[in-house]
Amino acid sequence: VSQWRAVIGLEVHAQLRTRSKIFCGCATSFGAAPNSHTCPVCLGLPGALPVLNAEAVRLAALAGLATRCTVELRSVFARKNYFYPDLPKGYQISQGDAPVCTGGWLEVDGRRLRIQRIHLEEDAGKLLHGEGTGQSWVDLNRAGTPLIEIVGEPDLCSPDEAVAYLRQLRAILLHLGVCDGNMEEGSLRCDANVSVRPSDDAPLGTRVELKNINSFRGVRDAIRYEIERQVTVIETGGRLRQETRLWHQDSGRTEPMRSKEEAHDYRYFPEPDLPPLVLTSTQVESWRQTLPELPGPRQARLERDLQLPAALAAWLCEAPARVAAFERVLGPQSTAEQAQALGHFLMTQAQAALVRSGRSWPEVDAAVPVLAEVCERWRSGQLSNKMLAELMAQAFSGDAPLEEALRQALAAAGSVVGDPAALAATIDEVLAAHSAEWAKYRGGQSQIFGFFVGQVMRRLQGKGDAKRVGELLRDRLA
Ligand SMILES: [Zn+2]
Repeated sequence: VSQWRAVIGLEVHAQLRTRSKIFCGCATSFGAAPNSHTCPVCLGLPGALPVLNAEAVRLAALAGLATRCTVELRSVFARKNYFYPDLPKGYQISQGDAPVCTGGWLEVDGRRLRIQRIHLEEDAGKLLHGEGTGQSWVDLNRAGTPLIEIVGEPDLCSPDEAVAYLRQLRAILLHLGVCDGNMEEGSLRCDANVSVRPSDDAPLGTRVELKNINSFRGVRDAIRYEIERQVTVIETGGRLRQETRLWHQDSGRTEPMRSKEEAHDYRYFPEPDLPPLVLTSTQVESWRQTLPELPGPRQARLERDLQLPAALAAWLCEAPARVAAFERVLGPQSTAEQAQALGHFLMTQAQAALVRSGRSWPEVDAAVPVLAEVCERWRSGQLSNKMLAELMAQAFSGDAPLEEALRQALAAAGSVVGDPAALAATIDEVLAAHSAEWAKYRGGQSQIFGFFVGQVMRRLQGKGDAKRVGELLRDRLA
């Protein structure tokens, strides 16, 4: 595989965070009873007319501005015709050759990865298939949800680069508040075009489109699998077909889609029920003024001002809630050392507890302020390692909101026992209970010092201040 060059482009669909759908007033909220968020427009009833949601336009323009695209002052909606049961009109309203944003780029690890276009479109409904019943149901709550499709140029050359590009794109959309970025719920979806060629200047190989990718891991695994598959086909004398393949995460393979489901002739034509979308440059400039600090510059600032390692800064900036809470907790006066300690604590201890418990990052991000308190008490020695481990396990294991669970666990954990009188009393108890070992120690077996420390800590249920216990024991045994 190593001598082959992969050529990869991503098409990313992002659901816009508007309250209502793109062409009607129905709610976009997730998880409602099937078909309860529908009306004649999104059901595609004859005679119903679409009205464009202005907020969807603003969000699409923000996405374009943040990715260095040109926001076009005139763009056109078009009908993309195809038949599928989740598409009541028999066509999707999208944008064809006149999209709302064109020609941007992202910079990923020093490489400029181009974005060809961003266009607005409506989402389709959902089919629910009854297991073993042979029946399917149609839920049109999602039909008409506003989407942007961000079409990347085929500038990516490895699965890891594709993941890095998608991570940065997601972080930007999250910082803008344009999309919630939830890949499991499908509000951020990704298709990948993959081909291989023997060298960088050889003609492009046969392109395969991969669909059904719904996680970062899926992006990496699906592209990696597909590159290997294509190389194997070519090297064993076979011929690749230009086709659409579905990624199956469980089997770790791509499989061709049934031919009935692909090779559409979409017969694009301008949507007669909507006028062209016309913006003014004043409007676009006023939106540009509202752009927040984006993840790239924010990451650079954290690296510069707090001397955070790049990987840690990038990880913090992946989620605006996380980095905002991190910065709020630190405040303007904190040192680079404090920043690094808290960052590492979040990326290692909180991450580990999260993985074990199956909780989600947004919950953890909301709990960063109390996590910072936990971190500080642990760093200052008020919580022992054992106490920290127990506290984190307890707080993450329940069903209660994490912030509250952490506060309770922190209160219940109490503090390490550092009071010299209490420690001295415990040391006396231990020496009295283990007079034989004490005699051995006095006889020169200094290596059993650790045994006494262990016994004292045990009697204190792991809550002793280990450093002070050691000091007091040394004095007592001397
Ligand atoms: Zn509707």
